[in-house]
Amino acid sequence: MRPSILDPLFGRAAALPGIGPKTAKHFDRLLARPGKETRLVDVLFHLPINLVDRSLRPTIAEAPTDRVVVLKVRVTEHRKPQGRYAKAPFKVHVEDDTGDAELVFFLSNADWIERSLPIGETRWVSGKIELYDGRRQIVHPDRVLDEAGLAKLPPAEAVHGLTEGLQERFVQRAVAGALERLPKLPEWQDASVLAANGLPDFASALAAAQNPRSPADIEPASKARQRLALDELLSQQLALRLIRSKMRREPGRENAGDGRITRLIEAALPYALTGAQQRALVEIREDLSSSRRMLRLLQGDVGAGKTIVALLAMASVVECGRQAALMAPTEILARQHYERLLPLAEAAGLRLCLLTGRAKPSERARLYETIAAGGVDIVIGTHSLVQSELSFADLGLAVVDEQHRFGVQQRLALGSKGESVDVLVMTATPIPRSLALTYFGDMDSSILDEKPPGRSPIDTRALPVSRIGDVVEGVRRALASGARVYWVCTLVEENEDLDLAAAKDRHEDLTRIFGEIVGLVHGRMKAPERDAAMEAFKQGETRILVATTVIEVGVDVPEATVMVIEHAERFGLAQLHQLRGRVGRGSGKSSCLLLYKGPLGETAKARLVMLRQTEDGFRIAEEDLRLRGEGEILGARQSGLPGFRLADLSAHARLLAIARDDVELTLRRDPDLSGPRGEALRVLLYLFERDEAVKLLRAG
Ligand code: ADP
Ligand code: MG
Repeated sequence: MRPSILDPLFGRAAALPGIGPKTAKHFDRLLARPGKETRLVDVLFHLPINLVDRSLRPTIAEAPTDRVVVLKVRVTEHRKPQGRYAKAPFKVHVEDDTGDAELVFFLSNADWIERSLPIGETRWVSGKIELYDGRRQIVHPDRVLDEAGLAKLPPAEAVHGLTEGLQERFVQRAVAGALERLPKLPEWQDASVLAANGLPDFASALAAAQNPRSPADIEPASKARQRLALDELLSQQLALRLIRSKMRREPGRENAGDGRITRLIEAALPYALTGAQQRALVEIREDLSSSRRMLRLLQGDVGAGKTIVALLAMASVVECGRQAALMAPTEILARQHYERLLPLAEAAGLRLCLLTGRAKPSERARLYETIAAGGVDIVIGTHSLVQSELSFADLGLAVVDEQHRFGVQQRLALGSKGESVDVLVMTATPIPRSLALTYFGDMDSSILDEKPPGRSPIDTRALPVSRIGDVVEGVRRALASGARVYWVCTLVEENEDLDLAAAKDRHEDLTRIFGEIVGLVHGRMKAPERDAAMEAFKQGETRILVATTVIEVGVDVPEATVMVIEHAERFGLAQLHQLRGRVGRGSGKSSCLLLYKGPLGETAKARLVMLRQTEDGFRIAEEDLRLRGEGEILGARQSGLPGFRLADLSAHARLLAIARDDVELTLRRDPDLSGPRGEALRVLLYLFERDEAVKLLRAG
């Protein structure tokens, strides 16, 4: 049970003063886990992504158009929309001694405008000047203040990621309320670690991170952010370590297959295994046949051929009379695995079944029965595999695909569906070698560092966005020759609404140009809708697929040979590489067009050059880390390793090492976390919702 000291933090954000039910709904959309309500802790961990600097106070004539300014103005005229023009904006004319401007309000409360901007009075307005028909205007000033209000205006203010309908001031109100309710928590960090790195305590760090005063305060390198990142990393390392030692304590079973099924599969393969696949299989089989439990990571770039390795591993276990399960993160991926593996399985006499959340109740009941009775050898499915009603006759191996989508808990849950289940985790995220071990705890790791032969390299080009017309022509030619095209369109603004709007606009543009062959997938779609859009593209009903970055990891559409990525300058290398990996899967020539908005910084340039030079995901990942390690962080969504809320591995790798060492030392001294620091560390685990790890502690 969570210690009661944390209760306030897990209370509902809706209960904060000034947060009405409507605002609470917006918060839920932005911050809550699916189907849940936003809690104080969600609000507090939603750190600002930017800062508005309100120190610039020019005259109207001098005001630049690209920055937020605070203007001191006289209000001269109200132009209220009349009669049938009621939907027109309310305009307020203002001036100073150097010039004039218009404040423009769409669909705003006229009473409020008249009250805040009385004619003849002096007011201070903050916002960005735009030129409209040669006239200066500010659309929806972000502040309208009188003298007293101005005195209270901070020179700089946080900007959080927002969602439609949720304004910054509501986030700030919620943050302020949540900070007030922050209980005094015990210090879980080691005093010498804090001292050596000059890090503040948790409460001060949170307050400082939420109230940045200068651009340096929102950098990952700020002391406040470092402290919070270290807390999150410490909880992650601690949880991983506890779970791993629990799994290692349970002896494994020896699953040395005799090769009779795997031989049949290999004979049915239309290709020979690569050297890397063979090496990985040797390592996996060694684990399987030992009496230690397997806990192995199979890392391989997209297209490296992990699936067949998994099938052969599962077949080895079946040879010992046991079952295997393969868990994929989405319905469509599970189905894809099933369809691709079925012919091979049939050739080898393996009994395969598919179990997803969409199976009808009667069908599901039948499947449950068959699985429990040992009537199938291999079950492929989604997270419905970990549902508690499902039991296996004798599960020997659990394979988890694209693992970063799953939490430790789900991985474990599948592993606990049998006696001493061996676990193989497959990931396509090329994790730099220097980080892999720390990120995954000390799992063993096999790497597929060799691509199957016969792939032609992807022709990668970077173009300024001004040449989008050429890109459209290129797409037209590609379509004429039967190609299918991914068009990734995202602003990477930490703002899903903007991303969505950009993708919808692009979808409309392209539909206007190419007709009804353009599909759309985005993060706001419900899973079945998204699967349907992917499926339509797979089947060729749509031939261009506009997507925010949600293009399903691992979905295989060999006919897709063109990838267009807009705003390529905003992505990290690893992410661009992942996206590019969606094409180049068949033997046809593929291309990747990176559209960027110039001028490019040095790092962005280096990134694009690197991408053109190599398709080696590991090299790219190392380089990405090096480039970003050197300071330029363009966005927060770049790490390619989701799962952290406060830490950014590209910037906080050093802290990860600190956390790992600390965990090792601490658990050696106090393996049950029963001393005073141990107690504090338990609080930390609960704070970051790693409850499952604490349960392992209790169980001993
Ligand atoms: P990933 O590692 O991304 O999951 P897949 O397992 O989906 O890769 O494999 C990608 C494609 O490569 C599949 O079409 C698969 O049949 C093919 N493939 C896998 N191994 C080989 C090989 N040794 N030689 C040729 N093609 C292979
Ligand atoms: Mg795959």
